Amino acid sequence: MSLKKLLLLLVIIALFASAFAFDLTQYLSLDVLKEKQQQLNQLFVDYPFTVFAVYFVIYVASTALSLPGATILTLGAGAIFGLGWGLLLASLAASLGAFLAFLSARFILHDWVQEKFGDRLSAINRGMERDGAFYLLSLRLVPLFPFFVINLVMGLTKIKAWTFYWVSQVGMLLGTAVYVNAGTQLAQISSLGDVVSADLIGAFVLLGVFPLVAKAVLAFLKRRKAFKGYKKPKSFDNNLVVIGAGSAGLVSAYIAATVKAKVTLIEKHKMGGDCLNTGCVPSKALLHVAELAHNARNASSAGVHVGEVSVDFKQVMQQVKSVIKDIEPHDSVERYTNLGVNVEQGDARIVSPWEVEVTSNVGGKSETKRITTRSIIIATGAKPLVPDFEGLDKVDYVTSDTLWELEELPKRLLVLGGGPIGCELSQAFQRLGSQVTQVEMAERLMGPEDADTVELLTRRLTAEGIDIKLNHKALRFEQHNGESVLIAEHTVDNQNADQSKDVEIPFDKVLIALGRQPNITGFGLEELGVQTNKTVSTNELLQTNFPNIYACGDVAGPYQLTHVASHQAWYASVNALFDPFKTFRTDYSVIPWVTYTSPQVANVGLTEQQAKKADKPYEVTEYDISELDRAIADDSAYGRVKVLTKPGKDELLGVNIVGPQAGELLAEYVLAMKHGIGLNKILGTIHSYPTLAEANKYVAGEWKRANAPQKLLTWVEKFHRWRRS
Ligand SMILES: Cc1cc2nc3c(=O)[nH]c(=O)nc-3n(C[C@H](O)[C@H](O)[C@H](O)COP(=O)(O)OP(=O)(O)OC[C@H]3O[C@@H](n4cnc5c(N)ncnc54)[C@H](O)[C@@H]3O)c2cc1C
Repeated sequence: MSLKKLLLLLVIIALFASAFAFDLTQYLSLDVLKEKQQQLNQLFVDYPFTVFAVYFVIYVASTALSLPGATILTLGAGAIFGLGWGLLLASLAASLGAFLAFLSARFILHDWVQEKFGDRLSAINRGMERDGAFYLLSLRLVPLFPFFVINLVMGLTKIKAWTFYWVSQVGMLLGTAVYVNAGTQLAQISSLGDVVSADLIGAFVLLGVFPLVAKAVLAFLKRRKAFKGYKKPKSFDNNLVVIGAGSAGLVSAYIAATVKAKVTLIEKHKMGGDCLNTGCVPSKALLHVAELAHNARNASSAGVHVGEVSVDFKQVMQQVKSVIKDIEPHDSVERYTNLGVNVEQGDARIVSPWEVEVTSNVGGKSETKRITTRSIIIATGAKPLVPDFEGLDKVDYVTSDTLWELEELPKRLLVLGGGPIGCELSQAFQRLGSQVTQVEMAERLMGPEDADTVELLTRRLTAEGIDIKLNHKALRFEQHNGESVLIAEHTVDNQNADQSKDVEIPFDKVLIALGRQPNITGFGLEELGVQTNKTVSTNELLQTNFPNIYACGDVAGPYQLTHVASHQAWYASVNALFDPFKTFRTDYSVIPWVTYTSPQVANVGLTEQQAKKADKPYEVTEYDISELDRAIADDSAYGRVKVLTKPGKDELLGVNIVGPQAGELLAEYVLAMKHGIGLNKILGTIHSYPTLAEANKYVAGEWKRANAPQKLLTWVEKFHRWRRS
């Protein structure tokens, strides 16, 4: 930091500190304003310019230093200077103060603002990407965040300083006018009777109504801007068209049909989408068969001898397909048609905000029809991300989309990627008999998980024979004497990029599990101008920049999970059908996620590393599953329950479980967090003996012991001593 910046920073800190040290903010209260009103008015009559100047400086300084009291100062402007001058002064001072706060965040307090309000930054950045300066205008008119936060966080965005200034000046004008006007009425209060004067009530009604009116005006302007150049049909065939019949699309259509809306669901491939056909269902079916093989191999240690275990891979894949077949009816065209959904099988393309074309194959001929709709939900999902590696076209590779067509078990399977999909499938194939090598470029598997969680999992995967190569970055594929080889850059020393060397990893088949890419191209979004940024960009209502087009599921992010897709689908469909009469903001507060390896890894709420990063104070309580009777009886005594709570409070912040059936154990905490239940209540609940779920009660017991009221216990001890005497 340069000397100039440092000096400025010291000045800001000194001013800020002195405002609090001398308790100056006490003067910025309604009571003081009213008490001193007479004197202030007299002062203004005697020294108008001085009062003008002092008021202006105080207002600018308090806004620039993000001190509370802007409302009182604005009301005060009305009370002392009247509507005209008051508005001019307050509005200029508010904008200048906001501008100074903005500049200080951009040039001096950058790190502090980032640390303090970083969580708001992503929301504001998303809004800025979507609507540009218009987003700032809407925040000024309908403040979703306190003004001082907007001033500071905007300093970290890419908005131009001048744009910030003039948009703030314009955006705050109306609100300021309402407050100054209320201030002029406030000045008239001399007796209790004045409180109920029509003018005063009018001014306060205006204050209350203003955000609603501003919101409606903004929504109108947004609609007009988005729909410019399109002709809205006079009537619609549908209330809702849903594109994609995966988890998100199916639930959206289901809800629409349940509330008696006319809904069309369009699917170009298989009903059920990824989860049923290539994702959750086949992967869990495969893991189950792999576990059977694993248990059969290990049964002899408990005295059950099954002879040599062999795996008929073709039959395994048949079993996986038969599981899909059994579940298929839940997602079928027949079921949804019976529910009242009009299902179209074909390729959907959005051609205007209210029209979707469906191209279907009818008797070998391609036919296109156009349907009109009041709202659209984009639920087109995601596909495996396959980077353009040199030599990839010459090797036998599969993704989670194509894996299910394998007929032979690969002898040496290379799995690229250390995320949940990579880990689950590595373990499944290793247990089925492949020699699996798993390559991950980071220094550990499952990046978002806590280090100790990953350690517990990695130890087990390694013990089962998976060759886990961390710090290996896949570079290209080559053929060496008819053998496929991955060339990877192995960073030996993480701190030093020079300490790396290229290594060769031979394999027979490679599974690319390097993440999933939302399906956002090829069906009209680009032509229409629906904003995207890797995913379809949406606001908290899951609405795109076209107010009647929504998105949910993998295509919208930020989570790529079936249960989140269906959770979002509720919001998207209800908002799409009932906006503007009633809308709901998507609630992501309690999202569970599970990786179905053995041991399973299950989470809800904050992980420890997230809590640290967010600078959130927490207390950790752990229970070791290797001490749990049921786990010992089941020969699965491995893992632990880790609970994060607010220090000294019975409030859950997050839970992470590594162990057998961790996903099932988690449900109790998901319920608890969703409904504000703490560990005391879990401890007070009877859990059947012997179950794995008892681990939840025991961790609650550990927490209780650590948080026992020591002072009270000393007295209780004295009480017992007295009773013995
Ligand atoms: C191997 C694997 C394992 C997984 N395991 C789990 C798990 O255990 N738990 C979990 O919660 N999640 C899991 N997931 C993630 C889960 O599958 C996805 O989060 C979920 O399927 C997303 O649902 P969706 O409706 O958003 O998308 P999808 O299920 O992908 O559905 C989108 C549908 O849209 C259709 N479509 C696309 N474009 C068009 C168009 N233009 N016209 C018509 N139709 C179109 C597609 O054909 C597709 O059917 C797993 C994923 C994979 C790959």
